[in-house]
Amino acid sequence: MINVTKTFLPPLEEYQKYLEQIWDSKQIANGGKLWYELQSKLKEYLDSPDLILTANGTLPLQIALKVLAGNGEVITTPFSYVATTAAIVWENCKPVFVDIHPDFLTIDETKIEAAITERTTAILATHVFGNPCNVEEIDRIAKKHGLKVIYDAAHCFGVKYKDQSIFNFGDVSTCSFHATKIFHTGEGGAMFCKDPQLFKKLFYSHNFGHKSPTEFYGLGINAKMNELQAAMGLAVLPFFAKLLGKRRNVVELYEKRLNFSRMRKISIRDKTFWNFSYYPIILNSEKDLQKIQRALNDQNIFPRRYFCPSLNTLSYAHTSNMPFSESVAKSVLCLPLAHDMDNKNIGVIVENINNILLSN
Ligand SMILES: *Cc1c(COP(=O)(O)O)cnc(C)c1O
Repeated sequence: MINVTKTFLPPLEEYQKYLEQIWDSKQIANGGKLWYELQSKLKEYLDSPDLILTANGTLPLQIALKVLAGNGEVITTPFSYVATTAAIVWENCKPVFVDIHPDFLTIDETKIEAAITERTTAILATHVFGNPCNVEEIDRIAKKHGLKVIYDAAHCFGVKYKDQSIFNFGDVSTCSFHATKIFHTGEGGAMFCKDPQLFKKLFYSHNFGHKSPTEFYGLGINAKMNELQAAMGLAVLPFFAKLLGKRRNVVELYEKRLNFSRMRKISIRDKTFWNFSYYPIILNSEKDLQKIQRALNDQNIFPRRYFCPSLNTLSYAHTSNMPFSESVAKSVLCLPLAHDMDNKNIGVIVENINNILLSN
């Protein structure tokens, strides 16, 4: 069976080595030794701003919205994983969708200003598939209108834009370390923030608001990453560069062998060091997509419809039509992409797709 993603499990001894440290320290939660170690190693490895490790990649979105968006209208993308919109609604903010760019699939920054009202407080955009939004233009618009910027950078581990970590952009960037993501801690995530004042607020918000055992800075919730998760991250991290290289090879084979005369691929923004986190193809119709999906499923190959449906069509979203996002959501298919795929696997996938599209 070949799935859209495959979790990399480090050699068991590597994980065990870290577990032994936990057994020695007897500390399994709340800022243990491995939590510190993973935090500082990630900051160094990614050359990122300060980060706070979290229990998953959704909580940091919720915390950033709670702290920055104050129950206002939040301008957001309809083409992302459901967590992006759900976090907005869950935090009692109102999602205001802006359609996506048809080639980059990120929010169309030229349409943002028309969606701003006096109730708008923030922009929450996704660097979907690890492809950066137009961060400069979004920054300019946000400054002009006094809005906060949060990036859902769940797919962006290792992505650089103009030689900087993509986590450098926006007031807060979040990442997911879920097992299906390119770097993982089983479940887990992080929020990145350059501003020391805001960082402090995010930090206490993720730990019940604690200042000391008996004093509180303010409202908080529990979003802490535990030592078992940190141990997994530490065991996976040394392999990341090699895994990335293998994923690059798979993507290069897809690009070389797929016939793009009857479908298209996404455009990666200029000056991006991409992380090969997903391999989406965009078919000309949902019918083509379904044919390909059926043929591959019959051979135990499971591409995924990331991301379907377009989030503006969710029952709790209630908004206007988003023609590009709705059309892309119906016709985008993420092909299997994993470190251990070989020529043969890739060949079967490529041949099926090329044959189906050419016989149309
Ligand atoms: C995976 C994902 C999340 C949620 O992360 P979890 O770690 O599963 O909570 C949020 N946004 C996007 C775009 C994602 O793909």
